[in-house]
Amino acid sequence: MTKYVYSFGNGKADGNTTMKNLLGGKGANLAEMTSLDIPVPPGCTITTEVCNYYYENQLSFPDVLNSQVLEALKNIENIIGKNFGDANDPLLLSVRSGARQSMPGMMETVLNLGLTSKTLPGLIAKSGNERFAYDAYRRLIMMYADVVMEKAEGQSPAGGEGIRHLLEKILDQFKKEKNYQSDVDLSASDWKVLSEKFKETIKSELGSEFPDDPMAQLWGGIKAVFKSWNGRRAINYRRIEGIPEAWGTAVNVQAMVFGNLGDSSATGVAFTRNPATGENVFFGEWLRNAQGEDVVAGIRTPNPLNDIAGSDGVQASESLQSAFPKAYTALIDIRGNLEQHYREMQDIEFTIQDERLWMLQTRTGKRNGHAAIKIAVDMVHENLIDKEEALLRVAPSQLDELLHPMVDPKEELKTAPLAKGLPAGPGGGSGQIVFTADAAEEQAAEGKKVILVREETSPEDVHGMHAAVAILTAKGGMTSHAALVARGWGKCCIVGCGALQIDLNKKQLAVGNKVLKEGDWVTLNGTAGKVYEGQLALLDSDPETHNEYAELMQWADATRRLKVRTNADRPEDASRARSYGAQGIGLCRTEHMFFDPQRILAIRKMILADTEEVRRSAVMELLPYQKKDFKGILQAMHDLPVTIRLLDPPLHEFMPQSDDQIDELAAELGITSEEIQTRIANLHEYNPMLGHRGCRLGIAYPEITEMQARAILEAAAELTKEGLTVLPEIMIPLVAAPAEFQNQEIIVRQLAKQVMEEQKITFDYLVGTMIELPRACLVADEIAKSAEFFSFGTNDLTQTTYGFSRDDIGGFLPVYLEQKILPQDPFQSLDVSGVGQLVALAVKKGRAVKRDLKIGICGEHGGDPASIEFFHNTDLNYVSCSPFRVPVARLAAAQAEIKSKN
Ligand code: PEP
Ligand code: MG
Repeated sequence: MTKYVYSFGNGKADGNTTMKNLLGGKGANLAEMTSLDIPVPPGCTITTEVCNYYYENQLSFPDVLNSQVLEALKNIENIIGKNFGDANDPLLLSVRSGARQSMPGMMETVLNLGLTSKTLPGLIAKSGNERFAYDAYRRLIMMYADVVMEKAEGQSPAGGEGIRHLLEKILDQFKKEKNYQSDVDLSASDWKVLSEKFKETIKSELGSEFPDDPMAQLWGGIKAVFKSWNGRRAINYRRIEGIPEAWGTAVNVQAMVFGNLGDSSATGVAFTRNPATGENVFFGEWLRNAQGEDVVAGIRTPNPLNDIAGSDGVQASESLQSAFPKAYTALIDIRGNLEQHYREMQDIEFTIQDERLWMLQTRTGKRNGHAAIKIAVDMVHENLIDKEEALLRVAPSQLDELLHPMVDPKEELKTAPLAKGLPAGPGGGSGQIVFTADAAEEQAAEGKKVILVREETSPEDVHGMHAAVAILTAKGGMTSHAALVARGWGKCCIVGCGALQIDLNKKQLAVGNKVLKEGDWVTLNGTAGKVYEGQLALLDSDPETHNEYAELMQWADATRRLKVRTNADRPEDASRARSYGAQGIGLCRTEHMFFDPQRILAIRKMILADTEEVRRSAVMELLPYQKKDFKGILQAMHDLPVTIRLLDPPLHEFMPQSDDQIDELAAELGITSEEIQTRIANLHEYNPMLGHRGCRLGIAYPEITEMQARAILEAAAELTKEGLTVLPEIMIPLVAAPAEFQNQEIIVRQLAKQVMEEQKITFDYLVGTMIELPRACLVADEIAKSAEFFSFGTNDLTQTTYGFSRDDIGGFLPVYLEQKILPQDPFQSLDVSGVGQLVALAVKKGRAVKRDLKIGICGEHGGDPASIEFFHNTDLNYVSCSPFRVPVARLAAAQAEIKSKN
């Protein structure tokens, strides 16, 4: 018989932490903590297999589930010493979701199950706290009506408003009538009156009664959690995070413990280390007399856990350390225990019921990039993990955060902040205000930079949070939804900015007398929690100032085999990339140097020339400029190889577009505008990407190759004379036939000979080719006979293998991704199974001819971690990527080495 239900409690558990696929993260870790003798309320986990069964079998459960759940329930009852449904001393249960990977707040929870008209008096008698019991009862009614009856069972009020909202309106109205400020003011009899009102409203609005039977409530709750796996929020989140539908969620049924049983009870969430800075200090937030949802919902601003780690702005409030010293000491022990056991920073939830501490959850804590690096490096020094483990623990994309823009401190000094909140996500963000997630998504799609401003965020907002450059909320703490989600994504975020008065109807926010409307600019410093009006300059940050970063990258460099170069066309980009660890230039696109006003004129003259003589003299006008360009780049990268590619794009890209520009050019050249128009018309191509570009230009107009080769080689000669070691690698683009390469190679070698004779000096240089057409891959052995290196141009190779225009894929890619025709954008992450075959074939063929042929890749995939793993495994010598991706590629290359070794 399949085991569908795994019990835990009293030091014994059926499952353990390795069983996340079956028990979900929460269930597996509750079992593990139980086995570690950490106080966990007893319970059971219904497996993810049941979730899949439920959806595959018309929303029904396996026959044996009922008896397995009943058996597990018996176990809980025995441990707690109370019975579910007992009129004198009822056991109450919670049901919670728990997928393999945490999906914070995306699925449903129901608490206090088992409270009925029969068991309520028992709870009142046993707790001696009538107010608590009625409060628990009304919470159950509200949650159940919303989560089970409306969302899962589809019973909804006729007016279109959700049942939860209707019940909340009743509560608000009641408070107004009684002149109450907050929920704390309501008495036991108030909650009693309200729970009766709630039940009546549910019956009249939903057409059926709130169930007064404990078992009916329990099964209603279990089904609702399974159903929430396919709720809109969960589906959206899975899409963004790439979580497969087939994983399913588990359901955890657990004895309730109460943090809201009075002033000797509390609830909180904590991280074993600071998730924003990585510092090895216990960090968390708690609320007295509250249930767990109150802390994360951001409705009340929570207090800091201890006196050292209070989050900014709430320092003055009382810490758990001073309010509950005994429970705090127990919590400190558990913190140490968990870190030693998991060897990883944990995110925990706890409840204190009548001074007694209970652990409700532990999981690997989300952290931003700064913290991820610090924690990984610190844990190596603490002998918790080894260097390889540390390297694997930092996602390469997290390094982006260290390279993130920061608000210019000089501008900050001059500008008074509009408001201050809690620094939930680092870096700077500047954008236009929007007030809804939908508006954020729409306006971001139009190319605007938007900042999503909300009272607080909920899982319903994730699509907008994803689209926004930064997030700002008026409420909530460092562990609120907005903070957690932003941290996971490494996004600039400020929460708990209490000074904001948001008016959704008027689409405006006010801070004191200052009013800002939708579309107005604000700038956030997410590292300091400061909000500024207007658009402040953002500065690139310097990762080298981060000690742990430098150490981690040293380990990465010592581990990786694959070299990392950069794509750069200007000396300043080359220098930046070098400071980020680039080991050379893998691609210098020479055409990027042509758009300067003086040069563009020369190039236009060249294009317009109708005789070779005129063309040659126009081309030669470009020589001094190009030589200067190449000198700058070779100098910035001295001692390192620099691959310079000869002219590649179709010539019409350089021609003027507007009539004014054409007239101006005509005047400059002393010809008529009509002549220019005719030439432009002649240059028109139906498929310029497949037209007269790449080496086809240099073959038709050898003087272009001559000029560029001369510029590179003269620059190299002059620098060599100055005593620098320069290593130019001249690259021929878009070769399909070996003869194309040979044609260009002869010109380059001829010039090299000439230049060395003229300058009376010798130096090393290479002539190689891009491999960016399928045919080049197929005949790579022939090409390798003369080429000294290969560099894969995976942009063009993807374009020509798929036959997808790289400039037009945007038109249909969203449909392709939506319908899962493509798993991802093949221009972002290499199509390993298709394009990858061509890469592997070309490597094999090339190296069969030249065993040590140097092979790199300079398409956009050179900065993509998944592609880098493939290039490592395909035995390339290097990847080349944009300067900002260099650190990402260094780490990804180290990870690829570790993974392939293990
Ligand atoms: C490529 O095609 O991958 C490449 C690097 O060249 P470009 O993007 O300039 O065509
Ligand atoms: Mg190309």
